[in-house]
Amino acid sequence: MLVDTHLHLEEVEDSDAAVEEAVAAGVTAMITMGTDLASSVRAVELAERHDTVFAAVGHHAMNDADPDLAAFARLLDDPLVVAVGEIGLDGGGQPGYAQMERQMGWFGALCDLAHEHGLPVSVHVRESEELVYRVLRARPGLTGVMHYFSLDQEWAERFLGLGFHLSFAGLVTRATRGGLREVARACPADRLLLETDSPYGQAHKRMGTPNRPAYLLDTAEVVAELRGISLDALGELETANALRIFSRMR
Ligand SMILES: [Zn+2]
Repeated sequence: MLVDTHLHLEEVEDSDAAVEEAVAAGVTAMITMGTDLASSVRAVELAERHDTVFAAVGHHAMNDADPDLAAFARLLDDPLVVAVGEIGLDGGGQPGYAQMERQMGWFGALCDLAHEHGLPVSVHVRESEELVYRVLRARPGLTGVMHYFSLDQEWAERFLGLGFHLSFAGLVTRATRGGLREVARACPADRLLLETDSPYGQAHKRMGTPNRPAYLLDTAEVVAELRGISLDALGELETANALRIFSRMR
């Protein structure tokens, strides 16, 4: 029993089969992300199509156009929408100051929408941790997940200090990522989540093949071993955490 708390199902090849494979592998629920309004609408459609799929609606930092906030607000009333995501800040392309200002505007507005609707956020961070931290810290009471967590222990503690959860992906399966493995080992049991970020975010042993939600097991096995618990025990705690934070899944 595991929950894939962040993936892009519409980008996964043969998504119907991918959902079936995942369920057969023990992934009992999946949260598929939107990256703009159109893909957010499709995320809701995928959630309507599969009992085991839930939707998040969001506007990714790398978009060119501004989000239609009124349209997003309407989508949030759908009971199959369990989070706002994928949202966040991306400094990876070294955006100019004006572009980062725009990203900050969207990110803040979408965090506010989530908060008003009592929904958690699934947050993307790339070369932007300080700014992301400031946006989240300015909104006490907002809950959420640091998706694809790949920062160090100090940053883990800062985001945990805001009440956020850490979601570990395939990166943690790489033996070379000792620091990240230590973060996954030390993460408080009630703040730990898992994800594939399919079709991105491959596990070490599957480099070169597009990721699928069934491969969540690769990451879960490594995290269970790091924490010295059984796969079943990890699945139980991760599922409980997911159901608590994404409370509309219950
Ligand atoms: Zn993503």
